[in-house]
Amino acid sequence: MMTYMAQLSSDTTLTLASGRHMPIMGLGTSQLADSGAAEAAIAAALNLGYRLIDTAKYYGNERSVGAAVREFVASSKTPREEIFVTTKLWHDDFDDPRAAFDASLARLGLEYVDLYLIHWPRPAMPKALWRSLERLYEEGLARSIGVSNFGIAEIDEFLSYANVPPMVNQIKFNPRDHDFALAEHCARNAIVVEAYSPLGRRSLLGESVVERVAKAHGKSAAQVLIRWGLQYRVVPIPKSSSPERLAENLQVFDFALSAEEMAALDALG
Ligand code: NAP
Repeated sequence: MMTYMAQLSSDTTLTLASGRHMPIMGLGTSQLADSGAAEAAIAAALNLGYRLIDTAKYYGNERSVGAAVREFVASSKTPREEIFVTTKLWHDDFDDPRAAFDASLARLGLEYVDLYLIHWPRPAMPKALWRSLERLYEEGLARSIGVSNFGIAEIDEFLSYANVPPMVNQIKFNPRDHDFALAEHCARNAIVVEAYSPLGRRSLLGESVVERVAKAHGKSAAQVLIRWGLQYRVVPIPKSSSPERLAENLQVFDFALSAEEMAALDALG
């Protein structure tokens, strides 16, 4: 897969097929259930400069995400439009996506979401499912729409009848778990890949090749893993609840991995 070596900065965005701008990296929030601590972590991220927050009905934290975003917008006078909030439709709700979306929006306390994703595919998904997301897009309630954990066959099925094609596919993407053929298929169809578990849920931090590359750049293992994703032009969304690690994970725009280092990391796959 082609790497992307253009100058990147924390305010770099990718343009989605909707014409909307998606920040080049963001914050994951799974395992941060609704609580004061979750709200504090998300507030800390926003104050540090994170502008993309990834939540889902399934994570049980839309209330905390919404409260932190609303408080940040009110106190910092940052326009709501500068924060990119994603939430997701769980497959138990495939029969009534509209009700599930309305409930998510109510928990978030927002007027719209920036991205609404189908969290996981299921066999034999009815066309009406994607039509519901298309309607949310047309009504402006979901500024962009997409999918998650979709493979090539599922993407092609949706593309065969979509009026509004999916704009994002959120998939596991890190040096150990990466499907370059899927990522290239997404790119060919103007679908941005968003990379979940970019740190392999910490399991990649102690890999010797990651440590070697990190040492060569005076960076941490986490920073190398996030940078690897950025150079593949995917949108990494590392999760952290610690202000120190949140700050660390943003310091990925002052170094670049060489083609050899990228290949050495790829070989973990
Ligand atoms: P991850 O981001 O790869 O790893 C998160 C873990 O790494 C946490 O335990 C975190 O602990 C730790 N960590 C973060 N920064 C660190 C650092 N600099 N140094 C050391 N440890 C660090 O895994 P993930 O949470 O699975 O994936 C990220 C996000 O992707 C999720 O939160 C979620 O939003 C999304 N996701 C989506 C799906 C899907 O099906 N669409 C599936 C999985 C995940 P601390 O919090 O203690 O820092």
